[in-house]
Amino acid sequence: MANFYRDNNDIQFLFRHTDLGKSAEVCEEGFKFANEFDYAPANSEEAIENYDMVLDSLGQLSADFIAPRAEDVDRQGNILNEDGSVTRAKGIQESIEKLGQAEVMGFTLPHCFGGLNFPNIVYSMAIEILSRADAALMNIFGLQGIAETINAFASEEIKQKYLPDFSAGKVTGAMVLTEPDAGSDLQSVKLRAFENDKGNWFLHGVKRFITNGCGDVLLVLARSEPDRSGGLGLSLFVCEPGPTVHIRRLEDKLGIHGSPTCEIFFDNTPCEIIGERQRGLVTYVMSLMNGARIGIAAQSVGIAEAAFRVARDYAATRKQFAVAIEKLPAVRDMLIDMKIAIEAGRALLYETSRVVDLEIGYAKQLEEIDSRFRGNDREKSGNDREKSGNDREKSGNDREKSGNDSRDKALAKQLKNDSRKYKRYAAMLTPMSKYYCSEMCNEIAYDSIQVLGGSGYMRDYPCERHARDARITTIYEGTSQLQVVAAVRGVCSGTAEKFIAELAGQNYDDEVKDLLGKLAEGTEQLKESVAFVKEQGNEYMDLYGRALVDMAIDLINGYLFCGQAGTKVDMQVPVAENGNTNNSQTVSMKERKAMIAQRYVTKNEPKIGALAALIRTGDKSTFSDYEALVGPVPME
Ligand SMILES: Cc1cc2nc3c(=O)[nH]c(=O)nc-3n(C[C@H](O)[C@H](O)[C@H](O)COP(=O)(O)OP(=O)(O)OC[C@H]3O[C@@H](n4cnc5c(N)ncnc54)[C@H](O)[C@@H]3O)c2cc1C
Repeated sequence: MANFYRDNNDIQFLFRHTDLGKSAEVCEEGFKFANEFDYAPANSEEAIENYDMVLDSLGQLSADFIAPRAEDVDRQGNILNEDGSVTRAKGIQESIEKLGQAEVMGFTLPHCFGGLNFPNIVYSMAIEILSRADAALMNIFGLQGIAETINAFASEEIKQKYLPDFSAGKVTGAMVLTEPDAGSDLQSVKLRAFENDKGNWFLHGVKRFITNGCGDVLLVLARSEPDRSGGLGLSLFVCEPGPTVHIRRLEDKLGIHGSPTCEIFFDNTPCEIIGERQRGLVTYVMSLMNGARIGIAAQSVGIAEAAFRVARDYAATRKQFAVAIEKLPAVRDMLIDMKIAIEAGRALLYETSRVVDLEIGYAKQLEEIDSRFRGNDREKSGNDREKSGNDREKSGNDREKSGNDSRDKALAKQLKNDSRKYKRYAAMLTPMSKYYCSEMCNEIAYDSIQVLGGSGYMRDYPCERHARDARITTIYEGTSQLQVVAAVRGVCSGTAEKFIAELAGQNYDDEVKDLLGKLAEGTEQLKESVAFVKEQGNEYMDLYGRALVDMAIDLINGYLFCGQAGTKVDMQVPVAENGNTNNSQTVSMKERKAMIAQRYVTKNEPKIGALAALIRTGDKSTFSDYEALVGPVPME
């Protein structure tokens, strides 16, 4: 049976190469849940076995059930019925039910709500696998972030109300943020939330472009403070569909046809507030969107993988000039670059997900220690009052407690440092991954059509669908331009420098020594470019942000590939990967990754140099010559 997890050698490799045990440990909080929940792992080995099992069944479901339906889903799309209900494409509805039965709809939710409590890195693998089968379905599978946000910030009552149903696959969610006048700039959201004198909240206004807006649990960003403009006037609310929630329109769009994109009118809709007032955008939606951005990066890698496979297969069989077109240098070069770009995207995505797991894990541990301190302080002051009669016992207890306290304090300090560090890394790597993977996915999807020539443009092959599906990835969850704005902060504030220095300080095989030298040179060029940009001011930084971020990503990926080339994983992969069973020739993944590192770093070295040179031109014609260069707004 086909399996989109097992047949992907790079995922198989990274599953073994990455330290999943560490992610498991922080996610399972030291495996403390094992005594309480039947399915909670007792150690890293058990956890990793569970991850492998679940990805295996998802891989099989994706290959055997979801992928064969993707073409029909794309052609059918969704229907808005006269009564305002939405009928999803048949294949999507069937797949949602299957995913619910497979118990994978609570991927990262805690055990106590029936979730799998898996780390983000495994969730990224799952999203990628599923997106390869059907990118549109991913939009519903990937909306598990709604449940995560409820889990992180809502009251216990709201959690109990919704989360078990999410885990059981009984409900799906929607992230309801965008409005006609509030797209990239969510601070200008206008939809009103008002509270009546009984303390009940209601929503009134219009939202547009809402994926799965016909879902069962809607998280809505709304203006709760009418006198306060900007993000601090916004709060987050949860509501359900009902007579006051009107789906006014389904968008007729280029791709992801299986994913309904809704315009919604809320007509005094009853709702409940999530967490605290005024933290809707600045805390809750930012957290929700960071998770969703990693999701889109994973979706992008999945689409790219699907598109590459079509091209790889076609290039081997299509003959022109009496040879298979893969023998032609221009075609084979394109295929190699496609494959390496996908593996670069995957490396960056998994590294980002791993960092996010550590960020969340350390923050949780820190919170626990802090609450222990608070508890100790309370207990101590209670004991002091009670125990004034027994001084000897008290001083013994005090000594023991102060020993524990100082150990806890040292641990808390360490955790605080780790937590801050990974938070900074995650804040930079998340937009980098979203930007790199979505741009990469668009290039791969277009190149896939190019490899197929005229056939690629026809609906007989899936690559035109992949290209249409790919197109949205650089737009939703924040456009590429917005990702660059977020990532460049990390590049210019020293975070990239620290992260790259950490990568450079790891152990590498001698084989990649010359590559490390090139990466070190590139790092110097990045530092000089950052210094130059800072001298020129913020506007210049915005203008050349993309070049800076590109340089940083190329360096990070270069180091990640060099690290993979030194892997301890003993894994042989067939040389002809697409199932040519007559070909018994294999290569070790270690050797293959060394080849990739060699090609990637060597080819990017001049690119990094060129980007540095571009930045240092000091060219500001974008500001000075705009009107003359673009001309007037065209008249009708
Ligand atoms: C299919 C689809 C599904 C969607 N699903 C959802 C959903 O589920 N929930 C939801 O809330 N929203 C959703 N959206 C909305 C989506 O997130 C927005 O479309 C996106 O954030 C861009 O906003 P906009 O379309 O208003 O474009 P604009 O913000 O108007 O941007 C237009 C152009 O200006 C650029 N730009 C804007 N600001 C800046 C800046 N500061 N610096 C540099 N460039 C800038 C942009 O990069 C872009 O090129 C969806 C959209 C689509 C198309």
